[in-house]
Amino acid sequence: MHLRKRTVVTGGAGFLGSHLCDRLLQENFDVLCIDNFYTGSKRNIVHLFGNPYFEMYRHDITYPLYVEVDEVYNLACPASPVHYQNDPVQTTKVNVHGSINMLGLAKRLKAKILQASTSEVYGDPKVHPQTENYWGHVNPIGRRSCYDEGKRCAETLFFDYHRQHGLKIKVARIFNTYGPRMHPNDGRVVSNFIMQALKGDPITIYGDGKQTRSFCYVDDLVDGLYRLMGTADDFTGPVNIGNPAEFTIMELAEKILQITGSRSELVFRPLPSDDPVQRQPNIELAGEKLGWEPKVPLDTGLRKTIDYFDDLLRSGNARE
Ligand code: NAD
Ligand code: UDP
Repeated sequence: MHLRKRTVVTGGAGFLGSHLCDRLLQENFDVLCIDNFYTGSKRNIVHLFGNPYFEMYRHDITYPLYVEVDEVYNLACPASPVHYQNDPVQTTKVNVHGSINMLGLAKRLKAKILQASTSEVYGDPKVHPQTENYWGHVNPIGRRSCYDEGKRCAETLFFDYHRQHGLKIKVARIFNTYGPRMHPNDGRVVSNFIMQALKGDPITIYGDGKQTRSFCYVDDLVDGLYRLMGTADDFTGPVNIGNPAEFTIMELAEKILQITGSRSELVFRPLPSDDPVQRQPNIELAGEKLGWEPKVPLDTGLRKTIDYFDDLLRSGNARE
């Protein structure tokens, strides 16, 4: 008989997935981490290898998976624009074929399944801040489409499995999240700016730096996912999880320069295509249904993230 609930985290060796594995182990779950190490790393989970309640399985979720668990967290998918645009066909596959495989697994096991969806389903939003009932403004044929449309199709699949097969689903729309274990070279703005500031390299502002994002610290985000999985079966989401404090990219650069004390200069580069102008979550639904709100202010979270990258650089592990 199993005394501990068994849970699988796909993408468990990635940035968010590895923190989620930590949290689930703290909550006394038996955790099976599935990852093909496309963008994830053993470094993110090596501290768990001695834990008897943690298992790691190298597997690509675009192929079927046969395991026995009670809950599925589906996070497998590269998240940074540079990585997901590197092999766009695989990005759509992981979202469509991968989701079908994980939904099939959950259906066979009658297990609850949570999808890590994204604010990108709103595209370049014309409604601000974004609420869950907004259908979005998405280019279907652009460079970001493999991710945006892939994630939209995954949501469709989740809701069709729910309606057609009575599956217990939870859909989280995650907004920009940052923290320790982000990949140092993944091209996302927080990791780029911190690495550049620490190395004294120029800070690369894309466009005029007036575009906005709202940055959530990883511990807050993981807490939101964990609470969402624990909600009543009739609550499916989608629910926004993110920090509504909105900053321009220029403000972010200035904050990082100030905290690191770096003298890096700012340089301007062309804005990538379809780069959203504004992004800010409305999190009223998360407050109401999950009793959740983010607690970590940007300054505090940035300091912890800067310490992580500083250690990585000093130990010579920043290239992996
Ligand atoms: P990440 O790239 O660090 O993690 C993704 C993980 O999935 C990696 O470990 C990678 O190796 C693994 N993976 C990719 N393809 C796979 C496959 N076919 N089979 C098995 N494993 C595979 O990214 P992250 O920031 O941790 O994002 C995790 C999830 O959260 C993603 O689904 C992402 O779309 C979503 N999300 C993240 C953010 C954010 O700001 N970090 C925002 C919105 C949504
Ligand atoms: N950005 C930037 N400089 C960089 C990396 C990103 O100015 O070195 C900008 C990017 O154009 C976008 C924002 O920062 O407007 C957030 O980019 P990121 O790739 O982190 O995530 P996105 O929210 O676009 O998916």
